[in-house]
Amino acid sequence: MNRKEFIKMCGLFGIALPFQTMLSSCKKDNGASTPFAGKVLIIGAGAGGLSAGYFLQQQGTDFEIIEASAAYGGRMRINTAFTDFPIPLGAEWLETGTGIFQEIVNDSSVQVTIQTIADNPDRKFVNYSWFSFFEDYIVPSVAGKISYNTIVQSIDYSGNQIAVQTNNGLFTADKVIVSVPLQILKDGDISFTPGLPQSKTNAINETTVWEGFKAFFEFNTNFYGDDEYVFPVTPQSSGQKIYYNAAFGQNTTKNILGLFAVGTPAQDFISRSGNELKNFILTELDSIYADQATPNYIQHLTQNWNNEPFIKGGYLSDYEDWNKVRELGSSVADKLYFAGAEFTDGENWVSVHTAAQSAKRAIEEINS
Ligand SMILES: Cc1cc2nc3c(=O)[nH]c(=O)nc-3n(C[C@H](O)[C@H](O)[C@H](O)COP(=O)(O)OP(=O)(O)OC[C@H]3O[C@@H](n4cnc5c(N)ncnc54)[C@H](O)[C@@H]3O)c2cc1C
Repeated sequence: MNRKEFIKMCGLFGIALPFQTMLSSCKKDNGASTPFAGKVLIIGAGAGGLSAGYFLQQQGTDFEIIEASAAYGGRMRINTAFTDFPIPLGAEWLETGTGIFQEIVNDSSVQVTIQTIADNPDRKFVNYSWFSFFEDYIVPSVAGKISYNTIVQSIDYSGNQIAVQTNNGLFTADKVIVSVPLQILKDGDISFTPGLPQSKTNAINETTVWEGFKAFFEFNTNFYGDDEYVFPVTPQSSGQKIYYNAAFGQNTTKNILGLFAVGTPAQDFISRSGNELKNFILTELDSIYADQATPNYIQHLTQNWNNEPFIKGGYLSDYEDWNKVRELGSSVADKLYFAGAEFTDGENWVSVHTAAQSAKRAIEEINS
């Protein structure tokens, strides 16, 4: 049973209650809270960090976002040069209802109109993307507060003020929201003084980040249809691998096949590059689709997330123990807060929308 199926079962049998109890116990009575009056530093400008900045901006709290790379978006990155619709190199599907857009925007005076199409079991954006949503609705409120090419190396939360050391100097704040990929913490790229609590360290070390790879191939014809070709992965818990029609639902005449691989099946791809990688995929496609791939090939694009120096992997396995995930998302010493797709309440994780929701939770906690 995968994560989504588990959550579905919780809903069906009403066993989600412990999660809800846990969540409501984090909130003040009636949900009322006073906006935090100090300074908040957010580390990482992915979905989690951008959402955190956006919510802090809305409530008037002073904040800054520190981003290691030269761009915002993290694992929502798109490519707009490959074809006539945005190619989602990371997040592609909307893994919840469309009401999430208004929930993230959190402002009833803003009209959010985004076209999506059902693509069982999730939804796809039509000539749009998660990245575009953030670019249009979230980033304008926080763009001036992001420092790029600024790599956080250490966080000292032993004193009243938290000292955050980067390659571009020292930043200080009253509270810090850590919103970097889990693999960054696993690799010890950011050191903490004092060290993180043992329970947190255990959760960081004992959870699995799947490898992450995507590829997009343009062909002269659509010989693959609209159905996903799902590779059997054994054990199921070691990852996923799917070939699919990436142009499905888009306003395009192009034939673009997508490859999505996380966990063990991604290893075949992240261990190769250049022509070797291209030919490996074409050979595999030829074997599935009766030798139609190689003769119809036009161009391709690949994204190896393990090679990204500030991402270093795909995402947290769908098969984690929710207790450990909850521990990943828990705050430390009323000073360090964690937000992002891997730092949630343990009820759900990994998607863009859960990253945004975890940011809201972190700020509610900071306010409380
Ligand atoms: C292949 C793949 C497919 C996916 N498909 C989907 C999908 O279809 N739907 C969906 O909802 N989700 C999908 N996801 C998951 C989704 O993209 C991520 O879970 C989400 O975007 C993560 O947001 P985040 O803010 O937690 O982290 P990130 O987006 O990784 O952002 C973290 C940021 O922290 C920065 N950073 C790292 N180290 C430092 C440092 N030391 N100092 C400062 N900054 C630092 C990074 O540069 C990065 O910008 C997919 C992910 C992958 C990899």
